[in-house]
Amino acid sequence: MNQSFSADTSLSFLTENYKEITSRIAEAAIKSGRSPLDVRLMAVTKTVPPAYINHITGLGAGLIGENKVQELLGKLEFLDTENVEMHIIGHLQSNKVRKIINTVSMIQSVDSISLINEISRQAVNNGKTMEILLEVNIDGEDSKTGLPTELLDETAFAALEASGVKLRGIMSIPPICEDEKTARKYFEKTRVLYEDLKDKLGTRADIDILSMGMSGDFEAAIYEGSTLVRVGSSLFGARRY
Ligand SMILES: *Cc1c(COP(=O)(O)O)cnc(C)c1O
Repeated sequence: MNQSFSADTSLSFLTENYKEITSRIAEAAIKSGRSPLDVRLMAVTKTVPPAYINHITGLGAGLIGENKVQELLGKLEFLDTENVEMHIIGHLQSNKVRKIINTVSMIQSVDSISLINEISRQAVNNGKTMEILLEVNIDGEDSKTGLPTELLDETAFAALEASGVKLRGIMSIPPICEDEKTARKYFEKTRVLYEDLKDKLGTRADIDILSMGMSGDFEAAIYEGSTLVRVGSSLFGARRY
């Protein structure tokens, strides 16, 4: 616990939010027949000031996610990053990979073979392996980012070939749904892709992360097998851009 922040009562709403979200995650995990330890919480910190982020990580949130390389690097010197893991979750341009290769432990938003190859190259240059998830475009139509589902297999095999990356699973952002039932259909579809991939790669990879579910739908995602939920506004409040 970080002394300076635990004394700041103006941030106590964050403590309340954190307790509420972690207990809802635990309940949903149990309801889906799993242990609360099987579902990891990521605090999504885009637009969130460093003091808020440090408060949440001080409470025990060990994983944060940022969308933009520039924003993460700008905040970095103000963050207490000891025991905190950082992931990139937004669309990543190949020319930005070099800038974060030594900062983050995973890139969840990998959506092309060329990006895999660039991440691998930079990782090898820095004497490391970068963990990645493949972001699938589960929507098929509208969404601007993510891998078309029909390219998932060949992209996964390309990741196995790239010596600087370690493929851990799949990430998806379903479209905003009116109701939980519709949301669950997208999550189910993602889980099927995840399980197929696991079967296809067998012992050649350790596929164990299914990253899906955000503030509005993380319980539905957990019921469908999510192992990592990415929660922003329910933790920190509505974003002001
Ligand atoms: C912003 C964002 C989230 C969190 O969204 P909330 O609805 O605020 O919880 C999760 N995943 C990605 C990829 C995001 O960009």
